[in-house]
Amino acid sequence: MSSVYDLLLDATIQHLEDLKSRGTRSVAVSPDTLRALAQPMVVVPRPVATPSLGPMVSVSAPVVEVAKVLSSPSPASAPKPAVVTRSTSEKTAAFEDLRRRALACVRCPQLATARKSVVFGVGNIDAELMFVGEAPGADEDAQGEPFVGRAGELLTKIITATGLNRADVYIGNILKCRPDTPGQSSGNRKPTAEEMQTCIPYLHEQIDLIQPKVLVALGATAVEGLLGKTIGITKLRGNWQTYRGIPLMPTYHPAYLLRNQAMSEKRKVWEDMLAVMEKLGMPISEKQRGYFLRS
Ligand code: URA
Repeated sequence: MSSVYDLLLDATIQHLEDLKSRGTRSVAVSPDTLRALAQPMVVVPRPVATPSLGPMVSVSAPVVEVAKVLSSPSPASAPKPAVVTRSTSEKTAAFEDLRRRALACVRCPQLATARKSVVFGVGNIDAELMFVGEAPGADEDAQGEPFVGRAGELLTKIITATGLNRADVYIGNILKCRPDTPGQSSGNRKPTAEEMQTCIPYLHEQIDLIQPKVLVALGATAVEGLLGKTIGITKLRGNWQTYRGIPLMPTYHPAYLLRNQAMSEKRKVWEDMLAVMEKLGMPISEKQRGYFLRS
């Protein structure tokens, strides 16, 4: 990325952060500026697979417009991005740039105000396997890392049961901020369609950079965010889907397994993971094949 672009981006972020720290929650952005922000950055020579998220912009009335202009249209059905070969250092730098932009994001002003952290994602940026959940909960918001609460502990057990470690895979969410629950001291809520549309370009960029061999969508919201499908997860789970050329396995969210402890439901998720392991060419022992078969 050009140093001039970096300087301008840093200055813009700094300026908006200064305004925010002084209590400003919105700035006026003209339609012309919004249109200009949606244009590809001509100063960047490297190919970018999905429309890149530009500098942080916070507006009061036209928030929806910003989201519409900046988010990619129909990612699941969008053509497979050209495989971009980057050196390790270029990939790390691109990932850090993306993280920096996500951490400064205030596109959903109500979430930015309520959050403790932007929960960007965690794991190996060269992972072959990537898990996508819904949104951070209270634990994730507090720690700044996805899937660290009870559902996260279960996800970690599932990953370990495959023979991988949590650090081998990448874990992200559709939303990077915890959905706010005004007036409630606990509980979570599903992200709105507008929040998902606003935030999802960050995930598209993460996937484009990581280029996993297999994606696992945890629960209906992850499927909806990645594939635009609102068919029930009960019907979809266990059936391979495709996200821009990448095989995607929909399965139940670990939080569902915490609510429904039936062995049959655990087995369904495990069968989905066995299919994932087969797709990745991972070794599978007889013991692993038999998990959750008997109560
Ligand atoms: N549930 C999710 O979908 N994501 C998290 O990060 C935690 C819980």
